[in-house]
Amino acid sequence: MILLDGKALSEKIKEEVKVEVAELVEEKQITPGLAVILVGNDAASATYVASKAKSCKNAGIYSVVHEMPESITQEELLETIARMNENPKLDGILVQLPLPKHIDTTVVLEAIDPLKDVDGFHPYNVGRMVSNLDAFLPATPFGVMRMFEEYGIEVSGKNVVVIGSSDIVGKPMASLLINAKATVTVCNSRTKDLAFFTKAADIVVIAVGVPHLLKADMIKDGAIVIDVGINRLDTGKLTGDADFEDCKNKCSHITPVPGGVGPMTIGMLLKNTIKAAKLREKREKK
Ligand code: NAD
Repeated sequence: MILLDGKALSEKIKEEVKVEVAELVEEKQITPGLAVILVGNDAASATYVASKAKSCKNAGIYSVVHEMPESITQEELLETIARMNENPKLDGILVQLPLPKHIDTTVVLEAIDPLKDVDGFHPYNVGRMVSNLDAFLPATPFGVMRMFEEYGIEVSGKNVVVIGSSDIVGKPMASLLINAKATVTVCNSRTKDLAFFTKAADIVVIAVGVPHLLKADMIKDGAIVIDVGINRLDTGKLTGDADFEDCKNKCSHITPVPGGVGPMTIGMLLKNTIKAAKLREKREKK
């Protein structure tokens, strides 16, 4: 069994990013900038945001964390985004999800300038991604595709089952796999016989948020298991959506949790920020 080491791979990506940032600074006098908006006091969101800010700093990317109280109105949030859209120092704008219930997430995501949408959640980028055009790709599925590439895993012609159909993981994952010419089946909580689909899969990507849902008797010998899930158990330990101990002797490759897909996500966010900075350079030239 080959362990797909997202932690090691993300270090390589971060090194690539450092080089790209240095080139932008030296040759184009551009320092890439990322703004992260954090609304409310959700502890997990605060941890993710802090980790994004730290990774930016290490890579030489200018970053601003804009904290707003849970009680802000949608108008106030939209005004903040509008200001950031106009701020030439900020190449990327990211609104940490989930947002409080009184705020319409769709309206907020649509307010971000699509050329600064480093999360790739704006319908402009979603549409371009589905059409296989150049776009900001959502960091988690983008990271999974990079992992396939780095480990020499050819997805073209493979049967891939994506479990979970959220806008941020499952759906974009399926789109990227379709673009890469895989045969893709997407399952969700209403799928009648999940194992029927997963047993036929060469690759299973699971992103559901249910600890240890995927067991060895649900996969075929030599399957590749990509575990996107991050679940905190009562013991405080982090675990994935696949039962790692059960699956590890049956599959050919598997991502650990933690240390698999998670670290790749931040790496790809940094990549998207560089892409946004390069777009700024092109716009400034015009
Ligand atoms: P979500 O709650 O938005 O969507 C979950 C999806 O799973 C839904 O489509 C639902 O129908 C499906 N589902 C739920 N139970 C199921 C079941 N028993 N069988 C089949 N399908 C089922 O979740 P999300 O935002 O896509 O996140 C999924 C998981 O991935 C979570 O654990 C989350 O923490 C993790 N995640 C990790 C990263 C990362 O960087 N590694 C990024 C985003 C999300």
